[in-house]
Amino acid sequence: MNANEEICHVCFHPVKRKLYETSTGKMLCVACMRRNRNCFACDTLTVKDKALRFSDGRYVCSECARKAVYEINAKRFAAIKGRLAWAPKMPVKFKIVSRETLPRRRRRTPLNFGQSKALYESHGRQLLIVSHEIEILIGLPVVLFEAIVVHELFHAWLHENFAVGIMNRDEEEWLCEHLALLYLRACRAKKPWRKVVQARREQYRFKRADEFKERTQKQVIKQLLTEARKNRKRRNRCPT
Ligand SMILES: [Zn+2]
Ligand SMILES: [Zn+2]
Ligand SMILES: [Zn+2]
Repeated sequence: MNANEEICHVCFHPVKRKLYETSTGKMLCVACMRRNRNCFACDTLTVKDKALRFSDGRYVCSECARKAVYEINAKRFAAIKGRLAWAPKMPVKFKIVSRETLPRRRRRTPLNFGQSKALYESHGRQLLIVSHEIEILIGLPVVLFEAIVVHELFHAWLHENFAVGIMNRDEEEWLCEHLALLYLRACRAKKPWRKVVQARREQYRFKRADEFKERTQKQVIKQLLTEARKNRKRRNRCPT
């Protein structure tokens, strides 16, 4: 066997074509990819007979299934916001949606857990954000669900503070995953869920990752607000 051949983590056969990686970066062979039985939320291998399956094909382990979130709860959102040192200024509308509603991601990237859209209104020559719409995938275990809410809320916050085009997609996603991870750490979430969010963060290229990794929630906000202020000043100086 070739020394640098990768091994499928389910059947232990060599992975011939690099096709599929789970959300924590484990390799699967083609056959196992087709019947990937890893829990969609915590990425642990589900046990035969105990695994549940959503109608959209996602497998879920019994622990994640027990804590799955199926509806919106205003109290829960208020509790999440209470733990954050920042919040978007404009109103946010939340929705829990099916897997089909969320845009598909490229192949070999983790399942989409949610999305955040800013709604704009034009005021003269300016476009201003008037509200946000956040959609979260149905069936996430509650702690992970909360972390995804934090992730999407941070997109909303970034959209309010940074004009379009200042941050690229990777930078923005890295920061949102980072805030979600800080949230999971603060509420002492179990390791598999933290690992999933951390693996998601690592897939994005962010040059200043090392600088930001050690920062607390408040320090991240402070740094970004300083940068946002500088960007605004620079923009006001050149009338284009
Ligand atoms: Zn396999
Ligand atoms: Zn699970
Ligand atoms: Zn995102």
